Amino acid sequence: MDLSPAIQTQREPRIIARPEHNISRGNISENALKVLYGLKRGGFQAYLVGGGVRDLLLGREPKDFDVATDALPEEVRAVFRNCRLIGRRFRLAHVHFGREIIEVATFRGAGAEEDAGERLVTNGMLVRDNIYGTLEEDAVRRDFTVNALYYNIADFSLVDYVGGKADLEQGMLRLIGDPEQRYREDPVRMLRAVRFAAKLGFTIEPATEQPLRRLGEHLRSVPPARLFEELLKLFLGGAALVTFEKLRHFDLFSHLFADTEAALARQEGDFPITFVSRGLANTDERIGEGKPVTPTFLLAVLLWEPVRMRYLEWTAAGKSSAEAMLFAAGEVMARQQAVVALPKRFSLPMREIWHLQPRFEQRNARRAARLLTHPRFRAAYDFYLLRAQSGEVDAEGADWWTQFQEADPNERHHLLEAAKGRRPRRRRRPTGGEIQPVDVR
Ligand code: ATP
Ligand code: MG
Repeated sequence: MDLSPAIQTQREPRIIARPEHNISRGNISENALKVLYGLKRGGFQAYLVGGGVRDLLLGREPKDFDVATDALPEEVRAVFRNCRLIGRRFRLAHVHFGREIIEVATFRGAGAEEDAGERLVTNGMLVRDNIYGTLEEDAVRRDFTVNALYYNIADFSLVDYVGGKADLEQGMLRLIGDPEQRYREDPVRMLRAVRFAAKLGFTIEPATEQPLRRLGEHLRSVPPARLFEELLKLFLGGAALVTFEKLRHFDLFSHLFADTEAALARQEGDFPITFVSRGLANTDERIGEGKPVTPTFLLAVLLWEPVRMRYLEWTAAGKSSAEAMLFAAGEVMARQQAVVALPKRFSLPMREIWHLQPRFEQRNARRAARLLTHPRFRAAYDFYLLRAQSGEVDAEGADWWTQFQEADPNERHHLLEAAKGRRPRRRRRPTGGEIQPVDVR
């Protein structure tokens, strides 16, 4: 089977000489430069490529630097002591400098049928691809034109085979080759389209955009662990809210978070959408301020609505709140894990955040003091606040906890006394108030 993208091969690249672009070595990480020069000294071609080049051209700070070369992985390893070969799907060299890793990829080729052993395709999906090739072939196997610009360490020029520079200047995200075929080969490219559009504020070119709505189902064939990695990039890149909106717009979100989508679709315009949007906006804000974020809180937010609904059903069926939450979390997580693998180090604290939620309704001395000392109190409290801010629980309850935390013993006594007189109030809005049954068809 011929998988080479049906385009622009055998054409002359556009060479953009150093004076005509703004990439300066001063903005490239020292370690990436070491790798580029090391390869060059070894007699190999070496280019900076991908997001590093794209972001530098846009005047943004690159997240990481990727290198492309004609050296084989084993040859790369021979040049650098601090090098490890990784990957099966794509064999890559990682050059380690403390915490920074420079990824070095050998030019990937278009390949011919005889090489089929090195390229494995299942249902149109590329599962192994270790055919090496020329710079030009490497360029057309990349995803978007703006990701296929090469910075040549030999003369500091840019090499552009696919019109990436022009697209970059226009803020245009365009898949190289036939979009549908490229999405089928690797469905993660659909998520990448959304991610880059959100992060860079780029427009998705019509032919690249058109298949998105139709092909979401193919995400099911992506290994859950890879989807998790991609999820982190989608939601921890500082543009989580826009990403979420775009994912829903292209009907991709439903293939990642089916239960959440079902819950949101049922009550759009009301509490759950506000809750999720606020949670994502908070995350973006924290990232914008340079504060640390973990996926835990974010994932707990994304899955809360389906958990809450199942919780209500279980409590309505007579289970205690602790048991109801245990069952609800278990069910939703089991379904979610089949699509996106959430490692235990995130899934366990997520469940703890949920499990602590009903306990914020119990404001007697012993229980309140115990909750306060729980190791996960802070995250659970933030979560409870978010619920209050989006109208799911009474703001009064959240205020009480805010005051209780900061109060001295005497003030705490007063707060606890006041809580004693608290009677369940009538809801002003159907979705306001403590967790309470709603219509969960
Ligand atoms: P960032 O690192 O900012 O998230 P990036 O574009 O550098 O964005 P990486 O995942 O680091 O993304 O990949 C580096 C480069 O490898 C990309 O720019 C692109 O050229 C190529 N690439 C990555 N993933 C794919 C893919 N699924 N299909 C085709 N090419 C890809
Ligand atoms: Mg990168």
